[in-house]
Amino acid sequence: MNTASKIIIIAALGATIVMALALKKGTVGTGSRTSPAITNRVSGISATGASAAIAARLPRLLDLGADKCVPCKKMAPILESLKTEYAGRLQVEFIDVWLNPDAGKEYGIEMIPTQIFFDANGKELFRHTGFYGREDILGKWKELGVDVTGGKPSSGIVREMPVAVDTRPPQAVCFMCDGDVNPKTRTLVKGRNEQHVLCGLHCYFVYFSSIVGADPGIEEAKVSVTDWASGRTVAATTASYIYGIDSKGRATIRACGDTVAASKEQQSSGGIVVNWELLRSKELAIRCTFCDRAVYPEDACSVKLGTTHGYGCCTHCAMGVAARLKQDIEVEAKDGLTGEIIRVGTLDGQVASLNPATAIAWFGQKKGPDGKWVSAGCFKQGFFVSEANLQRWLDARPAFTGRQITIAQALSDKMKLSPDQIARACKLGECK
Ligand SMILES: [Zn+2]
Ligand SMILES: [Zn+2]
Repeated sequence: MNTASKIIIIAALGATIVMALALKKGTVGTGSRTSPAITNRVSGISATGASAAIAARLPRLLDLGADKCVPCKKMAPILESLKTEYAGRLQVEFIDVWLNPDAGKEYGIEMIPTQIFFDANGKELFRHTGFYGREDILGKWKELGVDVTGGKPSSGIVREMPVAVDTRPPQAVCFMCDGDVNPKTRTLVKGRNEQHVLCGLHCYFVYFSSIVGADPGIEEAKVSVTDWASGRTVAATTASYIYGIDSKGRATIRACGDTVAASKEQQSSGGIVVNWELLRSKELAIRCTFCDRAVYPEDACSVKLGTTHGYGCCTHCAMGVAARLKQDIEVEAKDGLTGEIIRVGTLDGQVASLNPATAIAWFGQKKGPDGKWVSAGCFKQGFFVSEANLQRWLDARPAFTGRQITIAQALSDKMKLSPDQIARACKLGECK
């Protein structure tokens, strides 16, 4: 009879161990004092796994868990997808150690879930305890020098040099979003040390919320806007604004020199007339849950955190919410090209689910003055349902530089940040 081995479940958050559970005694394989073959000890689908893997000379991934443990349950679809996708190259097995307590002893595990990586000769290469994401598993095989992709390298688009140089004159390009500046909404920030052209007031509020310790009074005094009707430049704080909503739900802002001009313009354009204070409070009301920048929900990624909800101003910021709040999140992002929905679920700082599984990320980067690669900013990041979509998106953006990364990497880049780095994330001059 076995003595009850203690196997501990790795909880969903961090390495917190929530409970110790005694294995059910001797429900299976009791009295096995001698050492029977592994095949006798494992359950159901995996009963012949070890021998089959060795016979076929395949590397093997073994997950030991239980059907009622939360991180184990999250592993199940990942194992299933690996099993299907890497059939013939990788043997994927699951053993329920509550049904087969001897297996837990056999492999000397103390916690569930535990994943063990074996090479094609059955030699153990690595083991991991706790939830382990799909990309992390594939990355680990690669790191271990085991090719489970069948020699098919994931191409991964890298663009170090622009395909075509941006020839637009600087005054026609928005400092924040890099978009074309419409002369009717042109906004200017002119301080003692800086001068920036912005495409409109929304980009001003994004800019304002990207300044560390910004003083509204000081910053606003530097801003001038363009009178919609006359094209005249007016101080932003004294202008009146016609605030409307476009067909996609985004705010439209038209600046007018004074309230009389605004009322007149409003008769043809609709919308409401607001002053600077009201406009500011509307524009700054919704922020990126990761970097605090002002966002329009229509453009942002949606982030679910338990029962509450937040936004990522870009896809990468959305992943950053898991790092900033140390919570499991569900992100709903749109393909940068087609708007198709991409859903990412995280567990314990790793990607636990990805739909569609082919989704990838673009990390927009540019070379800084010191030759080091830095983020090209939130406006130049994106998720795509496929590499083909990313390629088409890049074809239309010849000046963009950066590289393709996995969604898991987009998350792990954020998980690596210290609280201080998170506090400075996306702030002007701090993009890393
Ligand atoms: Zn802009
Ligand atoms: Zn953000």
